[in-house]
Amino acid sequence: MQYILKNFKLIDGVSEEILENIDILIDGTKIKSIGRDITSPDKAEVIDMKGRTVLPGMVEAHVHIGMNGEPNFELMMIKETIPMATLKASVYAKRDLLAGFTTVRTMGDKGFLDIALKRAFDSGLLDGPRLRVSGQILSITGGHADLALPPEVSITGWAAIVDSPDEARKAARYQLKMGADIVKMCATGGVMSEGDEPGSAQLTEEEMRAAITEAHKVGKKAAAHAQGAEGIKNAIRAGIDSIEHGVLIDDESIELMLKNGVFLVPTLSAPYNIKKYGREAGIPEHAVRKNDQIIGFHLQNFIKAYKAGVKIATGTDAGTPFNKHGENAQELELMVQAGVKPMDAILAATKWGAELLGMDKLIGTIEVDKEADIIAVEGNPLENISIMKDVKFVMKAGKIYKNE
Ligand SMILES: [Zn+2]
Repeated sequence: MQYILKNFKLIDGVSEEILENIDILIDGTKIKSIGRDITSPDKAEVIDMKGRTVLPGMVEAHVHIGMNGEPNFELMMIKETIPMATLKASVYAKRDLLAGFTTVRTMGDKGFLDIALKRAFDSGLLDGPRLRVSGQILSITGGHADLALPPEVSITGWAAIVDSPDEARKAARYQLKMGADIVKMCATGGVMSEGDEPGSAQLTEEEMRAAITEAHKVGKKAAAHAQGAEGIKNAIRAGIDSIEHGVLIDDESIELMLKNGVFLVPTLSAPYNIKKYGREAGIPEHAVRKNDQIIGFHLQNFIKAYKAGVKIATGTDAGTPFNKHGENAQELELMVQAGVKPMDAILAATKWGAELLGMDKLIGTIEVDKEADIIAVEGNPLENISIMKDVKFVMKAGKIYKNE
């Protein structure tokens, strides 16, 4: 199939300027040419983009695809079967896609459902975004991903509990065997976990290094849930590719991240929604309490890291309380409200997100020979970032999923 897109303004993820009077020719899954008054030798279908702003398909770098903002996810995890969670996840993933996120990175789900979905989408069995998946989360006993449940209750395939470098190595190898693209691990405590604190370090540097080495050996990535400064630094020294949340990031962490080219995925949407909805909405007491303690530091430290030049990528932590699939572009709005330049918020959701995933040769910008992942919005997002929440056109790999 060939398409020629006409009549739009372009933010291509490369130029600082908005480009005009340009056409894009799409051939199969790829962008074939970009220029003025393109004519196709074959019978390309012309699509009038109605003067909208065209951008690269976005990258959502942190979701839990089997969860959709339930106030108390532990209850759901216990009550819901893996087949039901998987069916729901296929719907949530489609919402991410229709919101303009053509590539989505999962950061922890039960039963390897994210890996199953990836295969269903890649094979064309189901429609969905391009997934990059992590399988089970590596956590210490009593750590962030080790749910506080009685001994007779366990959640199949949610966390891999590891308490030594050898166990971490084995668990990482197991995720890779199952098809993970990223090994996700918990360097610190967190907000949603009942038995720990965000500031406390969990997996040791040695444990993380053992897991990260396995991922890197096969050309894959490693990501750390990391909120406290000590855990952030342990993860960076261990060789991590991205810090997730980075709530209590300090000057030394920023320096280390700059030196090692480590990404920060701040997930501002997660604390924002917990704060907005609170206890009244059924969010557990411990989560609201911890969230109140850290939310102010989180915003301050994020902006400090951004201004220092730390690479950032857009991820919402969708799935956490009231943080819903399909509303992912709220993260761009929160970034801009925090002080990020609108163009940088867009780059964090496109070009830089693709770099984080190691997919920048394939996606993230609108350039010839890249995958035809293209979205459009009404108006100029550099003047009003909120319009990114209302994407009108979605194409992934040359296939149109939405054209309002
Ligand atoms: Zn998360």
